[in-house]
Amino acid sequence: MSAATAKTYRLLIGGEWVDGEAGTSPIINPADESHVADVPEASVAQAEAAARAAQEAFPAWAATPARERAALLHAATEKLAERRESLIPTIIAETGATAQVGSKMQVPIAITRFSEYADLAIRDHDVPLPPSPVPSTPLAAGGLIGALVARQPVGAVATISPYNFPLVNQAGKVAPALAAGCTVVMKPAPQDPIAVIELAEILDEVGFPPGVVNVITSVDPAPAAALSSSRDIDMVSFTGSTGVGEMIYEAGAPTMKRLLLELGGKGAAIVREDADIATATAALASVWGFHSGQICTAPTRAIVHASRVDELVGALQFAAGKMQVGLPTDNATVVGPVISGAQRGRIEGYIESGASEGATVVVDGRRPEHMESGFYVGPTLLADCRPDMTAVQEEIFGPVISVLTFDDDDEAVSIANGTDFGLYDYVFSADTGKAYEMGRRLRSGNVGINTAQRNPKTAFGGFKKSGVGRDGAEFGLHAYTEMQSIVWPA
Ligand code: NAD
Repeated sequence: MSAATAKTYRLLIGGEWVDGEAGTSPIINPADESHVADVPEASVAQAEAAARAAQEAFPAWAATPARERAALLHAATEKLAERRESLIPTIIAETGATAQVGSKMQVPIAITRFSEYADLAIRDHDVPLPPSPVPSTPLAAGGLIGALVARQPVGAVATISPYNFPLVNQAGKVAPALAAGCTVVMKPAPQDPIAVIELAEILDEVGFPPGVVNVITSVDPAPAAALSSSRDIDMVSFTGSTGVGEMIYEAGAPTMKRLLLELGGKGAAIVREDADIATATAALASVWGFHSGQICTAPTRAIVHASRVDELVGALQFAAGKMQVGLPTDNATVVGPVISGAQRGRIEGYIESGASEGATVVVDGRRPEHMESGFYVGPTLLADCRPDMTAVQEEIFGPVISVLTFDDDDEAVSIANGTDFGLYDYVFSADTGKAYEMGRRLRSGNVGINTAQRNPKTAFGGFKKSGVGRDGAEFGLHAYTEMQSIVWPA
């Protein structure tokens, strides 16, 4: 498999490209365990320096006219598009994404995000309010009082991201933050930071001023943790596990950080008695075929009416048998590797726990024999599950579906709502009115009715321990602003 490049990667701090003070770390290709590149290990002092640089650059960047910020974002969009063909193999090598996911989603969606936020940057986001008659009070004279709710940039933002969609995720944070007038310190996941360092190169090349964009990388969590407690960071925009989200919440409390936390999920797919099984099966099979289930929104719990369970399990078993597990670079591959040996071990542990707690392993994807190296788990189907099982309660983040049954809609909603998470649920039913009503009862930030497709214009985020705040399109831009109310006698 082609290595990304032999080039030397560096950190960007305050406009200077520097080596990591803690040395370098190797990036391993999950598909065949080959060495892709070495990336810098930042020290805590370098994380602090990057935070300081972002804070120092903030006032001038916030005061830069929106059309100039937009022009730089458009230039970044163009440069990303020019580099697209070299970025795709890099991302496939570092993430293990299949050729389909790598070429159609990992890079193009990142480009789209820059372009969208370049357009949104020049829109007026202030909210004018009609003058209100206010009576005289001991505070001040009455009269008509005019008002405006202005949106002001939050400040210096640490953007900390997970390994599954490194470039898309950072683009979804950095582009709206820069558009709103914030400065950023990017901290990509340790497993696959190369494309994000390349994004920083692009942003530097097109002319973002020194300190406006910084990037640090490290396997050691200490530099990322230092950003979450730094006085120079006003906001942490984090996507990752709920466990790390809790640590960031706590670390940010003394400095009252603004937080956007996009955390774990345990998606429920309710399959009602009148559902179209083929539609439900296609959506559920995305847990296997879309980035090996390393997706927070995946419908990993199939909650099916008892009268249809045999049909659904049969359809899923058939679908699993058709999905080729193989090298990501092979166009016929549907299920590629998971990110690392550690993650493969975690997933295998959950399959084992499902079996030992009483689930039937209908399809067992552990250690596909034809893959001699790399970190592979094939499609796995656990039937006869109960809501209290470990594999049903905890996020697996791999190609594993658990099947549970229900007898009436109330029970379905109760099972669906019965985890700590609430990110993305689904309802499959011929009665779309009923499905809509059930969707409104789900404690989940997003609900899909008869589809696993997303609408990129919606607000995206979680209820409960799936997160705090919303990103996505214009909602995402607002996440990087503070509302400031200004009043005057009209
Ligand atoms: P992770 O939480 O292990 O790591 C995410 C990032 O946090 C990495 O960059 C890591 O270096 C950093 N980090 C680690 N310790 C830290 C600390 N103490 N302080 C600050 N930062 C720290 O997550 P992961 O394994 O890379 O990704 C998988 C998780 O991400 C899953 O839980 C998945 O559901 C979640 N995810 C959520 C969404 C969403 O939009 N809700 C999207 C994708 C992934």
